[in-house]
Amino acid sequence: MTLYVATSNPGKLRDFAAADTLHIPIEPLPNLADIAPPPEDEPTFEGNAIAKALYYSHHAPGEIVIADDSGLEVDALHGAPGVRSARFAEDHNFLPMSPLPPDERNNLYLVETLTGVPLSDREARYHCVLAAARNGHILAIGHGAVEGEILTAPRGSGGFGYDPLFYLPTHHRTMAELDLATKLTLSHRGRAFAALLKELEPHLSSAKFT
Ligand code: IMP
Repeated sequence: MTLYVATSNPGKLRDFAAADTLHIPIEPLPNLADIAPPPEDEPTFEGNAIAKALYYSHHAPGEIVIADDSGLEVDALHGAPGVRSARFAEDHNFLPMSPLPPDERNNLYLVETLTGVPLSDREARYHCVLAAARNGHILAIGHGAVEGEILTAPRGSGGFGYDPLFYLPTHHRTMAELDLATKLTLSHRGRAFAALLKELEPHLSSAKFT
């Protein structure tokens, strides 16, 4: 039996594999590149993960297909950028002509948006939701999060996205300053996968074996 994930992102696959306590093979959905992606326009991570899992499950009849959605939630911004994390700066027309890569633009915009917000009021989390579906039916949903704080300036060169601004008080480092092994233990995706597996376990014996 194999769990098929609707991603070919090696970082995501690595996070899932590290949390795969049942040692079930995890593979990218075959021919993912040839499948037109569905719209991601739901207002919540869960809504997007469910919509994607249902959609992609029709492309692998009889198999369990997992889809994800994730992003950054900043308390002082009432949960923004949330589902719009990848397009935070673009949505607000911040530096529209800038040649900067989207991650850097998003980080600059986040720093600017939080100007004047005291260090004591910068709580944030990475939040991931995974949904598993088979033949157009949702089997399980898993949430995972990692808590941190948003700095006033970036630190570190590892990771991606908001990692240089995402500070972990428990580790005295940003996500971009952590070594890979430590990062794996803090993954919101890994935690969501572990939660998903727990809910999915009763369905695994009836899964199609390959
Ligand atoms: P996706 O839904 O997992 O592709 O993530 C959407 C956006 O959320 C990314 O483009 C990043 O801006 C942000 N994001 C999600 N996970 C992470 C992470 O682990 N580190 C940094 N940024 C993240």
